[in-house]
Amino acid sequence: MISIEHVSRRFGDGPDAVVALDDVSIDVAKGQIFGVVGQSGAGKSTLLRTVNALERPDSGRVTVDGVDVTALSGQALRNERHKIGMVFQHFNLVGNRTVAQNVEFALEATGAAEKDRRPKALDMLDLVGLAHRADDRPGQLSGGQRQRVGIARALASGPDVLLSDEATSALDPETTRSILELIRRLSRELGLTVLLITHEMEVVKRICDAAALMETGRVIEQGGLDELIRTPGSQVAAELFPVGEPHRIPGHRIVDVTYTGLSADRPVIAQLARDFGLDVSILGAALETINGHQAGRTRLAVPGDEHTARQVVDSLTAQGVTAWEVLA
Ligand code: ADP
Repeated sequence: MISIEHVSRRFGDGPDAVVALDDVSIDVAKGQIFGVVGQSGAGKSTLLRTVNALERPDSGRVTVDGVDVTALSGQALRNERHKIGMVFQHFNLVGNRTVAQNVEFALEATGAAEKDRRPKALDMLDLVGLAHRADDRPGQLSGGQRQRVGIARALASGPDVLLSDEATSALDPETTRSILELIRRLSRELGLTVLLITHEMEVVKRICDAAALMETGRVIEQGGLDELIRTPGSQVAAELFPVGEPHRIPGHRIVDVTYTGLSADRPVIAQLARDFGLDVSILGAALETINGHQAGRTRLAVPGDEHTARQVVDSLTAQGVTAWEVLA
């Protein structure tokens, strides 16, 4: 649905030049929620602006549903933008208009007839659970509610693609979760393809199907989330599941395992280990949400050498262990 092909973008010339994007290629499938994650300055915003054709790449191209947006201008570009909704970190609502008028404004831009705008705006507000606040001003709403209006406005033109620029960075953790759940639900119900940028791994973990990790303009790792967490040495996996310094136990190897479809309860893992005749101690267990699925993460102490540790993990793999790492 979104194809970013070898996109490069540099700002400035000579020794002070900044390479914001360096040969970036990303494909986002229809209906997928794709996260681009990285520290400040990694190039995420430049990438998003390039997809929205607010920025032109020096080389490479971006197609959205087969249309090369990097080659469009004028009316053709404006028409294409209606297929792309955008949600902003600071909501970007107009303070002296009502909530409904903010959404109607987006409809006006698409050329919707005046009489249709308010009913359509109310439909959009209903979708995000805010139809009852239609005649309030944005200033009367909480941050989370304002972002819901931002989402309603982004959806008003009936886009196929939703771009999210740090949509939850200004929100508290609980509100963040509800906004991410809303985006996920809308993506499923409306078949929306979502490209979101964030500096928070937590956002990736909560809603993304796939992700790319960016650093200084380059994609250093990308893939489906399930695939990334299965890849030994994956930085995304390491950041999703940060582990402290593993304690050492003489004569044992310490192994971290991640698995889906199981409870993270120590007794469950201990029982599983016994069922397989495995001699392991359970050092820690936690529940995580990966890709919307519940997953367990457990640290095991396996008596013996690394070979034995691998054998233990191989046995557990048959039970849904998806990622493992020998820590010490
Ligand atoms: P991120 O969104 O990951 O924080 P950005 O895409 O905003 O990263 O920026 C990537 C790099 O490009 C940064 O070093 C930034 O300073 C630089 N940059 C972005 N936009 C411009 C611009 N219009 N002019 C000059 N430098 C820019």
